[in-house]
Amino acid sequence: MNSPIMNTFPFELGPIRPVDEAASLLIRTTRGCPWNRCEFCVNYKDMEFSLRSLEEIKQDIAAAADYYGSDVFETCFLQDGDSFLMKTAELVALLTFLKQKFPGLKRISSYGRAQTMIRKSAEEMQAICLVGLNKLYCGMESGSDKVLKKVNKGVTASDISTSSRRAKEAGMSISEFIILGLGGQELWQEHARETAKVLNEINPHFIRVLTIGVKPGSGLLRQMEAGEYTLQTEKNIIEEQRLLIENLSGITSHYANHHAVDLLTETRGQFPRDKPRLLAIMDRYLSLTEEDRMNFTLGKRLGIYQQLDDMNRAHLHKEVDAQLLKIRASHSGQMEEIFHHLRAQIV
Ligand code: SF4
Repeated sequence: MNSPIMNTFPFELGPIRPVDEAASLLIRTTRGCPWNRCEFCVNYKDMEFSLRSLEEIKQDIAAAADYYGSDVFETCFLQDGDSFLMKTAELVALLTFLKQKFPGLKRISSYGRAQTMIRKSAEEMQAICLVGLNKLYCGMESGSDKVLKKVNKGVTASDISTSSRRAKEAGMSISEFIILGLGGQELWQEHARETAKVLNEINPHFIRVLTIGVKPGSGLLRQMEAGEYTLQTEKNIIEEQRLLIENLSGITSHYANHHAVDLLTETRGQFPRDKPRLLAIMDRYLSLTEEDRMNFTLGKRLGIYQQLDDMNRAHLHKEVDAQLLKIRASHSGQMEEIFHHLRAQIV
């Protein structure tokens, strides 16, 4: 998941960076996303895509070094959506210059769009990694070709698997992002099983899970209104996640629900060791009574609870019950819509 940025600096900044890059130097290599057609995404909706010239980016790097000093950062993130669209020689030259200006950088990261990465050979990926680009955030979203097609991701599961494995073999650290609920009620089992299959093939260093929140202006909202996509309930999404975790095998990835949009943010751990514990978290939620499940879900969506254990704190439980009563009085039978509304507010 991304975080928006305000620009008050003497160099260009894009609007978005991953949450893990809050303390990183940001250098913009491209503007927007060259695809910009995924049905669930509104990140760059009103922005025309453009590549920046190597000279322009170098000027920004030099300006950033003057502004911050050259020894402040250990991490850098390349914005916006698709640095791999740069010619390999230019990307290598850019990274070399970046390391000269900021010699303390230990990690340089970028989004890794499978559609573009697949066009780089193993040798090119190695050359890019060798000069410093050593971490990728890959928006895999799903391993199901049916789901990928339905949300117009513009890439196949096979290309996702090949491009990520190639990057990993080149020496890059890979973080795969997947979206729970993306298949809707129509394709949730296919989505969970096929996503697990591709993750098992890649064995990424990190698996990061986000829960779908359908945004205003997105194609997915249009699909929803046309009856082509049916949202999973909060309980269904946890059942889906249980199926996903159950089908993950032979991997050594770190798995986490680490964003506020996720319901069970305590679901984080190292495979294979923590798989039983992660499944137990799902089972604990799924075995709650209907009333307790409503209480927890609302409490989490309102930010009153952080994790399942918080339900045992009597004053918090009471506070959520009071809210539940109020909402039911005015919106009887609409709890799932309210949960989704609260979820979709989160950036
Ligand atoms: S999800 Fe990624 S590839 Fe798809 S439109 Fe958004 S930024 Fe572009």
